[in-house]
Amino acid sequence: MQNRDAVFLEDFCPKLRVRRWRQSLHTFTGESCIYCGKPSESIDHVLPRSRGGLSITENCVPACLSCNGHKSDAEAFDWYRRQRFYDPRRAMAIRAWMDGDLRLAIRLLEWAQPQIDKNQARSKDYSTDWDFQAA
Ligand SMILES: [Zn+2]
Repeated sequence: MQNRDAVFLEDFCPKLRVRRWRQSLHTFTGESCIYCGKPSESIDHVLPRSRGGLSITENCVPACLSCNGHKSDAEAFDWYRRQRFYDPRRAMAIRAWMDGDLRLAIRLLEWAQPQIDKNQARSKDYSTDWDFQAA
């Protein structure tokens, strides 16, 4: 019953739903920037909205303000390859994320940033949920 109430409430409060969705994106990466690994403070559109990028999970990644600001309207992968903190594992994670394979994206990010495991137990819980859902 409580679950049905929650859905009901969110249908009438789209802002609440958007906020929860954004929070869930940050939780997937252990609240770290998908590009550089610093704390994520914003949501970046991989394909910019100005180029028709949609506000859907596949196109929205947690990013720090620095990466989000510097990337602006540049093509994400072109921009990313030019950065000092470029990490091919993260680039693969972003591609997996855009393919909708968050499970693979999280694995790649954990590979690039092993401390996610220790410091962000919650992200581990989330990836376990995904394992369960995909099984
Ligand atoms: Zn960053």
